[in-house]
Amino acid sequence: MQTTLEKPATEKKVEKTEAGNYFVSNYPPFSFWKPDQVHLVDEVLQRPAPPDIPLGVYFHIPFCRKRCHFCYFKVYTDKNAGEIKAYIDAGMREMERLAARPYLKGRKAHFVYFGGGTPSYLSVPQLKDLSERMKALVPWDEAEEVAFEAEPGTLNEVKLTGIREIGVTRLSLGVENFDDHILESNGRAHRSGEIGKAYNFARGLGFEHINIDLIAGMMNETEANWKVCVAKAIEMQPDAVTIYQMEVPYNTTMYQQMKAEGKVTAPVADWQTKRDWVSHAFDEFQKAGYTVTSAYTVVKDPKRIKFVYRDSLWDGADLLSCGVASFGHFGGVHYQNQADVGPYMQAVDAGKPPIFRAYQTTHEDRFVREFILKLKLGRSEWAHYIQKFGEDPRKHFGPQLDYLAKEGFATLDADGITLTRDGLLQVDRLLHDFFLPQHRQYARYT
Ligand code: SF4
Repeated sequence: MQTTLEKPATEKKVEKTEAGNYFVSNYPPFSFWKPDQVHLVDEVLQRPAPPDIPLGVYFHIPFCRKRCHFCYFKVYTDKNAGEIKAYIDAGMREMERLAARPYLKGRKAHFVYFGGGTPSYLSVPQLKDLSERMKALVPWDEAEEVAFEAEPGTLNEVKLTGIREIGVTRLSLGVENFDDHILESNGRAHRSGEIGKAYNFARGLGFEHINIDLIAGMMNETEANWKVCVAKAIEMQPDAVTIYQMEVPYNTTMYQQMKAEGKVTAPVADWQTKRDWVSHAFDEFQKAGYTVTSAYTVVKDPKRIKFVYRDSLWDGADLLSCGVASFGHFGGVHYQNQADVGPYMQAVDAGKPPIFRAYQTTHEDRFVREFILKLKLGRSEWAHYIQKFGEDPRKHFGPQLDYLAKEGFATLDADGITLTRDGLLQVDRLLHDFFLPQHRQYARYT
């Protein structure tokens, strides 16, 4: 959820990391999604299936071994096998009801995503049962990608073999850091020794796309250690690396600790330092032959390695999303499920949709959404928006684009916009200026 927009770097020398998050994962912001729009999801589901919109399937697994101090998701660390089975049963009942609706009936998955939480927390029999039931409801035989998030400490050869056998093509390892003290002090469940083992097993099993996640600016991170992390990641030669800059949202244990101690500044690096660390990583990966493909990603072979889930959603694909707190989208209506497992399971048991808020987008919302999300890729062509939406970003966003160019965050040419490295590294902060006035909390251009 978006909060305030900080002043530009040029106006503020040291930007301490304070509580809040700037990361733009969707648009309009979640705070504008409302319970009184939930009925609109049902209206879309009564329509006939569209012939030309790709469909993704998402299943949310809210279980983790341990809660990380920076985690802002609702996760459960104490569920037994019976409770996990009941949760999967509820999720499949939810999916069964949705898949039978006219808008979804007979459609196949173009992409599949297992997110969490920690999907790899499930046992192989649980994963097999879950995936077989999902495939029976929405076939995956034409899926271009089946993506799966994994925590290194939950993986061994048997688990990874099971994950491969259910059809996963993109395995994403939540490595975050290679230093045991940093992993421990940030509340991560895994340790460095488990990373290499999991990665080597996975490589041996032939996953098409292995991504590793890193976080720049974890608590106790140092420049020297960060450089070692980058070097170790390069040595592993993953297909892609995703690098996040540490944020401290309000609903984290790290924020609770700050509040208890009366601190405003989080015990992590300031924003400029985090940007410098990501920039160093980008430079090193580029030297090793990787390409920077977004504000967070480097890819070894961009012709072969795609991230279908991300790109499809940014293009406006439908997403049949099930499980607690999950986010979905049908024909221009976004929705989110109940965020706690109790109300979620009660709704499913009662035969009701477990959705608690939704948002019907306008044509203008969809144009703005796609433009801002794709700016994260670092390059956008005007013609794409003129053809797809009949809207020219130069007319819509004149002052915002001039500002980016004037501050050295982007260059504009006759065909489109290219973010500079400086712009790319703080794109989430800059994107708030492109929100429609009714969705802004910090208005530089009214
Ligand atoms: S593994 Fe991920 S979802 Fe689980 S507690 Fe840590 S950050 Fe949160």
